[in-house]
Amino acid sequence: MPLRTSWSEDKCPIARAADVLGDPWSLLVLREVFLGNNRFDGMKKELRVADNVLSERLRRLVGAGVLTAEPYSAGTRPRNEYRLTAAGTDALPVLHALTVWAQRHTQSPGGKSMRIICTTCGTESASGAWCQTCGAELTVATTAWAHPKSSENLIELARAGTPQKTSD
Ligand SMILES: [Zn+2]
Repeated sequence: MPLRTSWSEDKCPIARAADVLGDPWSLLVLREVFLGNNRFDGMKKELRVADNVLSERLRRLVGAGVLTAEPYSAGTRPRNEYRLTAAGTDALPVLHALTVWAQRHTQSPGGKSMRIICTTCGTESASGAWCQTCGAELTVATTAWAHPKSSENLIELARAGTPQKTSD
């Protein structure tokens, strides 16, 4: 099913944001890139998504200027690694707002929650925009997630912007 594009020129900024970010797969692709899972096969495995659906969302996010596709070589095939642009990293407070909302108003099946940690002072923040302890803005450079899907205790988002090793 094609994605809707009818809001890309809407006067309302919420509608224009929804046009780019409002699709569930697109938000989950962004989550993966923030977590450092930024290659097609890794995202496909984690999201259990069909190839064509993932390709379409990546194409849209690159087209909207949220991600860039950087080629790397794996064996004989050139492949892409996806990185956040400035517009992409600016979506972090959006994901945090969704996190805070979900933890207030929805049930986690495993009872696990996600914690947003300010790496400037090391404390958990109940706000997704600013650290309530030290006042630092929560950006990719200053935020870590304790994410229920990850076995790692804390994932520093700063790693999301760095290229992966090509040996895997
Ligand atoms: Zn802090």
